[in-house]
Amino acid sequence: MSYHANERGYYGEFGGAFIPEMLYPNCEELRQNYLKIMAEPSFQEEFHQLLKDYVGRPTPLYFAERLSKKYNTKIYLKREDLCHTGAHKVNNTIGQILMAKRLGKHRIIAETGAGQHGVATATVCALMGIECVVYMGEIDIARQAPNVARMKMLGAEVRPATSGSKTLKDATNEAIRDWINNPVDTHYIIGSVVGPHPYPDMVARFQSVISEEVKSQLLEKEGRENPDFVVACVGGGSNAAGAFYHFLDTPEVGIIAVEAAGKGIHSGESAATSALGKVGIIHGSKTLLMQTPDGQITEPYSISAGLDYPGVGPLHAHLYTSGRGEFISITDDEAMKAGLDLCKLEGIIPAIESSHALAIFKDRKFKENDVVVVNLSGRGDKDLQNYIDYFKL
Ligand SMILES: *Cc1c(COP(=O)(O)O)cnc(C)c1O
Repeated sequence: MSYHANERGYYGEFGGAFIPEMLYPNCEELRQNYLKIMAEPSFQEEFHQLLKDYVGRPTPLYFAERLSKKYNTKIYLKREDLCHTGAHKVNNTIGQILMAKRLGKHRIIAETGAGQHGVATATVCALMGIECVVYMGEIDIARQAPNVARMKMLGAEVRPATSGSKTLKDATNEAIRDWINNPVDTHYIIGSVVGPHPYPDMVARFQSVISEEVKSQLLEKEGRENPDFVVACVGGGSNAAGAFYHFLDTPEVGIIAVEAAGKGIHSGESAATSALGKVGIIHGSKTLLMQTPDGQITEPYSISAGLDYPGVGPLHAHLYTSGRGEFISITDDEAMKAGLDLCKLEGIIPAIESSHALAIFKDRKFKENDVVVVNLSGRGDKDLQNYIDYFKL
């Protein structure tokens, strides 16, 4: 079985490009060029130079000794929290801004929910001196003031989406409308392994630097390239796709994807997409998503803004239904406790998204000699107020 996108962007039955006719030229231009451009030596050179000098890669693979002792197994943390801007998202935006430049685009649009992808996009637009418009729901703008300020400081224009529920899905609609109206000069930077083909595959390839580094770092530390398990949280699924990528076709490596169960899988307030999801179409892609019996997308909930998404990327839908991936749902409470645990045991304050991945060790047991790599997708600075409120600090 293949776990990579075929030429039409399908992972098994999931993926594809379900887009309005008016968007076809934009997606088609990207589809026809992305692999060719990514294969150019000058592209690879510029991409890796920026990952090194600007993002700060390779990020360390850190053996968490005290955490390992507590759970009686060997836990390594892939430190994406040490990337410039505090998370893995910048790996993708660096790749896409270079792609946009080679396609002759001189204007960037993006949508953002919590603002993390907006900041990562505004960052690379500042770096390249390219105009940047970020669409964001009016309600999210009010909730996420620090990230709105960051985007403005970085020179981006933040445009409020005022229709519908005034959140991420409305911002996405606005961004798509903009792209339809500006097909020639504008590139749309999508922030996860979601959206129509070729986005899921392109974003996964940019993020695959994570597992590429893990292989050589593990070889150095353990004398072997492959861990027994690799663990990552899944919102749309980009940090997980990057962490899993080079292990997908190695069945000896167990793949563990961790979703947000919010207040409980069956509480009506969760984002446990694979556990609750049905096949449907969201953002131009056929995948698993949370929906009502008549197909209306359900409003997701998680304490972590980055996991608060009603679908998963098509790769993850395929990993779930094919059984290649083990999917675990973690509640808000479990994640918050695991996050505080990492602070006390290792001196690392994780993003609440990443805390979901750390929370599996309480119930999911591993053997003493298992090597388990956890992708620490981001740092917790952005979540400080959440931690303060939750623990009454
Ligand atoms: C955005 C974000 C996520 C979720 O996005 P994916 O595409 O699923 O990786 C996870 N962790 C952090 C720190 C994030 O900022």
